[in-house]
Amino acid sequence: MKAERVTEILLALGSKIEEEKDFLTELDNVIGDGDHGINMARGFKAVEEKLGTLQTSDIGNLLKTTGMTLVSTVGGASGPLYGTAFMKAGMLMNGKEEMNLDDFLSCLDAAVEGVKTRGKSVQGEKTMLDAMIPALDAMKQAREEGLSAPDVLQKGVDAARTGVEYTKTIIATKGRASYLGERSIGHQDPGATSFTDMLETVCACITP
Ligand code: ADP
Ligand code: MG
Repeated sequence: MKAERVTEILLALGSKIEEEKDFLTELDNVIGDGDHGINMARGFKAVEEKLGTLQTSDIGNLLKTTGMTLVSTVGGASGPLYGTAFMKAGMLMNGKEEMNLDDFLSCLDAAVEGVKTRGKSVQGEKTMLDAMIPALDAMKQAREEGLSAPDVLQKGVDAARTGVEYTKTIIATKGRASYLGERSIGHQDPGATSFTDMLETVCACITP
């Protein structure tokens, strides 16, 4: 796909986050400070404005702009983390005018590494990584098995959803939810949920 399509998908992520804003905020209300949906919706609104004025065929430029905008507008832990994720993906796509499934998987790989480094976090700490990493692993495997792009994405979505369910069973050790200790058990992580929402959107956008 070309930059135009990537822009459409980035805008679709914003619409999805806007739709899920109240639910994400509700989740964050239980184990955090109740701003995740509000933070993310504010960030993607700013992304929409930025992309509206950005005329470029460089997909790296689009992703980097998205990341920088999220860092500067989201606030909260998720701003720098998602911001880094998109910026890392953008660096990988620097100067590229076409993006295929392998590029997408490489981007997600870079995004996961970016979140881990920036968040000093690993899988199993009840964060967005608990959706991102299983989704990436499932998609890499599906890719190796030769599945089509929509099917690969669907495998990723399924794994991300399972990851969200898994976050209900574990204690948060990173971010605000870690202040709750054992009381964080039983509640799903807002960041893992927002990541899953975004991957679902990408999947829906590329599925004919
Ligand atoms: P804040 O916690 O500052 O209010 P948000 O509510 O917007 O920020 O985002 C919270 C989400 O950020 C969590 O649900 C979790 O998924 C993610 N998160 C927080 N800290 C980390 C971290 N160190 N590594 C990865 N993800 C994290
Ligand atoms: Mg919060």
